[in-house]
Amino acid sequence: MLLARAGVKVTVLEKHKDFFRDFRGDTVHPSTLDLFHQLGWLDDFLAIEHSKVERIGLRVAGQQRDIADFRYLPVAAPFIAMMPQWDLLDFLAGKAKQYPGFDLRMGTEAVAARTDSDGRINSVLTRDGEVLPSRLVIAADGRRSIMRDEAELPLKNIGAPMDVLWFRLERPPELGPESFGSLSAGRFLILINRRTYLQCAFIIPKGTGDEIRTQGIEAFRNRLRGLVPELDGAIDQLSDVDDLKLLSVSLDRLTRWNCDGLLAIGDAAHAMSPIGGVGINVAVQDAVVAANVLAAPLARGESPDPLLARVQQLRARSVHYTQMIQKFAQDRFIQPLLERDAPIEQAPLPVRLLDRFGPLQRLPARIIGLGIDRPHIESPDAYG
Ligand SMILES: Cc1cc2nc3c(=O)[nH]c(=O)nc-3n(C[C@H](O)[C@H](O)[C@H](O)COP(=O)(O)OP(=O)(O)OC[C@H]3O[C@@H](n4cnc5c(N)ncnc54)[C@H](O)[C@@H]3O)c2cc1C
Repeated sequence: MLLARAGVKVTVLEKHKDFFRDFRGDTVHPSTLDLFHQLGWLDDFLAIEHSKVERIGLRVAGQQRDIADFRYLPVAAPFIAMMPQWDLLDFLAGKAKQYPGFDLRMGTEAVAARTDSDGRINSVLTRDGEVLPSRLVIAADGRRSIMRDEAELPLKNIGAPMDVLWFRLERPPELGPESFGSLSAGRFLILINRRTYLQCAFIIPKGTGDEIRTQGIEAFRNRLRGLVPELDGAIDQLSDVDDLKLLSVSLDRLTRWNCDGLLAIGDAAHAMSPIGGVGINVAVQDAVVAANVLAAPLARGESPDPLLARVQQLRARSVHYTQMIQKFAQDRFIQPLLERDAPIEQAPLPVRLLDRFGPLQRLPARIIGLGIDRPHIESPDAYG
């Protein structure tokens, strides 16, 4: 969208016929909302049905603690807007279609990259056999990116000790409006308030999803019981293991994001752990920086190749630090929790401190909500 807005001819290939995928990155953070504000689209965006998360809590040993407070962030919309990812993507696609150079081809899968005699990627082959010539291929094809494999970009796996089972439950009236996590020995459940229902994430040890499904839905309901007592009635709504959607958690990154003719961004360049729900927002920030660096030169008809490494340079610090924090949380909190048998008597000290001294909750809110090195839109608007 940003490249098309700068007057560049852009073709977006999407292998699915629609954007309808449940339980994807639904957490639109203040950083992303602020980008819409910069574009003058915030009101349009917030007119789409969403729920607001202004604070995050943690329930440990039956006690509710507040750990992050977004309300004081210095941005136009200091909250997380929870919105299905297809609504966000439909919104962006709708805005992008305003620009004459933008062409979104749904149901079109890229299967290979083609190179010229110097080894520079210069076109994309689709499953239908069409060859699309390209001055620059942007590989934004997610954590199992084919295009980054085609470009033979080197991947560093950092690893994750857990996977996530996503499911939804009816919201019992006894539960307040907060979104929070609840933990006890070996169990961690995150509840996200989606107005009419609860989006639930149950954290499980890596690779155990199939075993849990094989044990059946009653065994899974028993695992959940007692963790959030107000939910015990609603848990019976889970009637089939097919209600549980497995997210295989990855934490990895490319050590080089580009080669001549191709740049990887978003999950294709770095799959983030779900901790903090930052994945979609980091991907959007990559896109903004890529446009800041490349839009004007591309619009002038210049070769993008000498500039591609600059995008990684500008984003690497943010991605590395965020992944470092996620790995720390995985290794120090989540893995020991999943392996633990003994009951938890009280919340860890950092959680108690955050809860006790309210203003401290602004720090995690800042890191989660705005990210590190938050970019602003600097790419030109050729139609403005
Ligand atoms: C189950 C699940 C839950 C998640 N929950 C959260 C969350 O709550 N918050 C959060 O911030 N992040 C979450 N994430 C991560 C988040 O979805 C990603 O970080 C974010 O969507 C990355 O955006 P992206 O555009 O880089 O990749 P993707 O969103 O993966 O988009 C890649 C797109 O490319 C298409 N594609 C792939 N290959 C091809 C091809 N060969 N040709 C054409 N099209 C292709 C795919 O269909 C897809 O639409 C979750 C991820 C999953 C899988």
